[in-house]
Amino acid sequence: MPEEPSSSDELLDFLFKKVIPAAFNPASPSYLAYIPGGGLFSSALGELIAATVNRYTGMWAAAPAAVELETQVLRWLAELMGLPQGSLGLLTSGASMSTLIALVAAREKYLGDEILKGTVYYSSEVHYAVAKAARVAGIPERNLRPIPVDSQFRLRIDLLAQAVHQDRDCDLVPFFVCGTAGTVSTGAIDPLIEIAEVAINHDLWFHVDGAYGAAFRLVPELQPLFTGMELADSLAIDPYKGFFLAYGTGALLVRDMSNLRRAFGTSPAAYLPELQANEDQLDFREFSPELSREWRGLRLWLPFKLHGVTAFRQALADWN
Ligand SMILES: *Cc1c(COP(=O)(O)O)cnc(C)c1O
Repeated sequence: MPEEPSSSDELLDFLFKKVIPAAFNPASPSYLAYIPGGGLFSSALGELIAATVNRYTGMWAAAPAAVELETQVLRWLAELMGLPQGSLGLLTSGASMSTLIALVAAREKYLGDEILKGTVYYSSEVHYAVAKAARVAGIPERNLRPIPVDSQFRLRIDLLAQAVHQDRDCDLVPFFVCGTAGTVSTGAIDPLIEIAEVAINHDLWFHVDGAYGAAFRLVPELQPLFTGMELADSLAIDPYKGFFLAYGTGALLVRDMSNLRRAFGTSPAAYLPELQANEDQLDFREFSPELSREWRGLRLWLPFKLHGVTAFRQALADWN
């Protein structure tokens, strides 16, 4: 720990000459290695403002307008994804956290204390974040069901239905199915409508992992590929991928916030004010594992307002 101050010139030189160049550069226009891409300055500016003014957005009453602005961003995202009116959610650090929150919400809804009986379904092409989330949520590894894919790398619906039947026959409790909208290896989109049907028939939570793929729904020609996504109970998207923002900006969208409240609502400590007075005035701390939190909304609000969504649509169309 330095006891004495250093000059900012010296520190910035050190950062920009030594530290930052020693990395691959996902914000470079010629970065084609992995999915993340971007580093939109307007978003970084939003983050700078948010961190500088440092408003507390875990609780509506502490910063009502800031919370409303973030809620607006969530409504925009839900609308862009074609989710039904009233859908909302949370801004998170990324899809791993979004998936974990969805899994815990589903677990609380369907399993109660019978955690060891719950079974989880996804295609063999799924991102490993989903199995990890299940494990962190307490679901035993033996209850995870990777379902084989067809020649297009899409989850085979016949095998999904069969696996669910078999598990029910063995006195297990199937409760969560994840469809991927854009797998990492090939970009395959699982048959979302058919998965939704299985979920409805067997009373399962239907989650869609659209971490990077779902953003392409903004391109009108590509929209039909995502039909069925609107039936999801929850959808993970990563604006730090599909909207070209910096790492640490993810979103979980849900059709029913009460499922998050069931899982994450608390009886707050005596020193905290009482729960929200009104359903429309969100205390994010009641819907999330986080209590204190960053004001993530500005990272999306500022770029959407400054550039308009058309700029994003066009950039995504070019990318395609
Ligand atoms: C990136 C990605 C994830 C993991 O998301 P993180 O934000 O890194 O936690 C999960 N699923 C898919 C499809 C992804 O592209």
